[in-house]
Amino acid sequence: MHDLAGLRALVTGGASGIGLATARLLAARGAEVAVLDLNPGGLEAPLLGFTADVSDDASVRAGVAAAVQRLGGLDVLVNNAGIGAVGTVADNPDQEWQRVLGVNVLGLVRTTRAALPHLRASERAAIVNTCSIAATAGLPQRALYSASKGAVLSLTLAMAADHVREGIRVNCVNPGTADTPWVGRLLDTAADPEAERAALNARQPMGRLVTAEEVAAAIVYLASPAAASVTGTALAVDGGMQGL
Ligand code: NAD
Repeated sequence: MHDLAGLRALVTGGASGIGLATARLLAARGAEVAVLDLNPGGLEAPLLGFTADVSDDASVRAGVAAAVQRLGGLDVLVNNAGIGAVGTVADNPDQEWQRVLGVNVLGLVRTTRAALPHLRASERAAIVNTCSIAATAGLPQRALYSASKGAVLSLTLAMAADHVREGIRVNCVNPGTADTPWVGRLLDTAADPEAERAALNARQPMGRLVTAEEVAAAIVYLASPAAASVTGTALAVDGGMQGL
């Protein structure tokens, strides 16, 4: 199925997990896909890798410019790069708040700012942000991470309103716990990672984690012309966790 032939897409954090599954699905459906990541090495063809750190504005501007030049324009931006943080509001110093917000919130702002002039020139412009059920679920021990994703949700709504008249749609997906290298790294810190994985699966309403491919399918839908009248929404892919 090559229904997205000719669509030019840029995926941040596209070298792993949800971003990589999204880049692969977009490419499988015919889109031309560039990945912006700290470590884009090892990406398979036809994915185009560009090194950039979304926490650094000059790096983002250079990365977006290089990717857009290679793609010959831009129709779709997937703001997916993100990092985690654990703890209550009292547990992290300012520096850690600034680091996480600098990636999860300002990273999205910087990439969008760099991409907007190109998206304005597109006839099928869409932005999809990877948010999280943490934005609305009130998860324990996730104060900083939840605040960052709350901002992503608010930005999705504000950006949708600001750019609807320019023909740019803006939506987000809210994954529940998704089986990605990120979660793998968290499980690896447990005394018994396999037992911890079983317990994590058991806590999910469906008895299993969401897959990266399931989240990617939602992102690609929101990015595609099939969602031409959809803007300012959050689509939960959370296996029934009901964060919204
Ligand atoms: P992952 O760690 O597997 O992949 C994240 C990618 O982002 C990596 O390739 C990494 O190199 C890149 N990245 C990190 N910081 C970057 C930076 N400063 N500049 C450029 N690239 C950077 O993680 P994932 O689980 O696929 O998460 C992707 C997104 O999904 C994140 O925004 C995360 O908050 C969100 N999310 C994940 C889950 C989950 O359970 N895995 C749930 C809800 C939301």
